[in-house]
Amino acid sequence: MSALLDGIRSIVGPTGLIIGPQELAPYATDWRKRYLGKPLAVVRPASTAEVAQVVRACLDARTAIVPQGGNTGLCGAATPDASGTQIVLNLSRMNRVREVDARNNTMTAEAGCVLAKLQGAAEEAGRLFPLSLAAEGSCEIGGNLSTNAGGTAVLRYGNARELVLGLEVVLPSGEVWEGLRGLRKDNTGYDLKQLFIGAEGTLGVITAAVLKLFPLPKSHATAVVALQSPEKALALLERVLEACGERLTGFELFSDFCLSLVLKHFSETAAPFPHRFPHYVLMELSDTQSGEGIRALIESMLEAALEEKNILDAAVAQSETQSRTFWSLREFISEAQAHEGSNIKHDVSIPISRISEFIATTDAELERAHRGVRMVTFGHLGDGNLHYNVSAPEGVVPDVFVKNTAAINRLVHDSVARFGGSISAEHGLGQLKREEIRRYKSSLELELMRKIKRTVDPHGIMNPGKVL
Ligand SMILES: Cc1cc2nc3c(=O)[nH]c(=O)nc-3n(C[C@H](O)[C@H](O)[C@H](O)COP(=O)(O)OP(=O)(O)OC[C@H]3O[C@@H](n4cnc5c(N)ncnc54)[C@H](O)[C@@H]3O)c2cc1C
Repeated sequence: MSALLDGIRSIVGPTGLIIGPQELAPYATDWRKRYLGKPLAVVRPASTAEVAQVVRACLDARTAIVPQGGNTGLCGAATPDASGTQIVLNLSRMNRVREVDARNNTMTAEAGCVLAKLQGAAEEAGRLFPLSLAAEGSCEIGGNLSTNAGGTAVLRYGNARELVLGLEVVLPSGEVWEGLRGLRKDNTGYDLKQLFIGAEGTLGVITAAVLKLFPLPKSHATAVVALQSPEKALALLERVLEACGERLTGFELFSDFCLSLVLKHFSETAAPFPHRFPHYVLMELSDTQSGEGIRALIESMLEAALEEKNILDAAVAQSETQSRTFWSLREFISEAQAHEGSNIKHDVSIPISRISEFIATTDAELERAHRGVRMVTFGHLGDGNLHYNVSAPEGVVPDVFVKNTAAINRLVHDSVARFGGSISAEHGLGQLKREEIRRYKSSLELELMRKIKRTVDPHGIMNPGKVL
């Protein structure tokens, strides 16, 4: 192994190789600290050529590679195993925006660019890069593409997959696939880039991407709406889509229990209304026209919904600061749960039309099987994506409660399947759901995936033990 490390040091230089146990520690565990690995080394290449040489060296030594970006993934997909033989290939030093072509509405960026930096680079060019998620200050575009990240603007702009026109990928053979095309039309056979998007680093290392840009909105309106039930939230979604069409960019649902966790753990937050209600929707509209039109539209729509008693209350942000305050209620939910203690998490998607029935049915099944459980239900309702998390009943120690994980996963995921949904909407499979997916995907689909893996990565060096 020391010959391999010497070889890698000669490729990336001493600053690109980390081997000290203390320095390795942050790369060896995941954001939730659920998995703890033991990497042989962390390699931080600074160019595509360096990545290619490192991959070739690892292939020659039959050493497994775990690609890693911002390490904010939630399925343990960027964490090495505990064997002490795997290399973590961290892309963070590859952080250049190679080109912004405003006229083509594209941006070419290296894999290690932090998402927030890309949003900023697009804005400087008078454009929007719409991918947006609570981890955007740390996650990197290579990781976003490899997980096909979703986030808060999927409703209008699609998942990460829909925001990519071209890719540059280092294959498990060490060859570089130069697919950095900025074309919106290219029907020349199989769309190879789609293989690598959402592959969680199991088929190659994404080193750069051509990303789609959009007109920069000039006005926004944000509102928090109080509602009786998810069913009422769906009715509101339908109404807003009819009235506002593509100007609706975000439609997020959260329950009052989620709000109570945020208020408890983030002292700087405040409840949006003097009274509490069962559910809330956070809604964002944006328009390429400047002025107050969009706010007037949302206000008139919500007034009508209030008069018809479809909603219980509504607050429209009067300033950018208030809009940020509203968004923080939604964005702090993940961390607030972490402060509260472990719970049993599910990232599921359901056809939007069936989502309230799913919640009612599954809540009831859970209550029957595990009396008193508290549901942390929130998510991107406009995309049919729920974070459907199950917390311990009052008085039960969270660490004791999570011993029910297997039984609760079974109940929830079987219900998801009955409703025609998916057990991973946006976080991927990683190692967390690698076994679980075998119950829900057909053997034909799984075998096709295995065949692709064997063809692209015949020696199985690319992120083994993840996805499949
Ligand atoms: C607070 C919080 C909120 C979040 N909210 C959302 C959300 O709303 N929507 C959502 O979709 N996700 C969300 N996530 C999950 C996470 O941020 C995303 O999955 C993100 O896309 C991961 O990016 P990363 O750079 O951190 O990737 P990592 O965690 O480093 O890696 C994720 C996967 O991608 C692979 N990978 C990384 N870089 C490369 C590369 N260059 N080439 C090949 N493979 C690579 C890794 O091997 C691993 O399989 C959230 C996470 C946190 C902590």
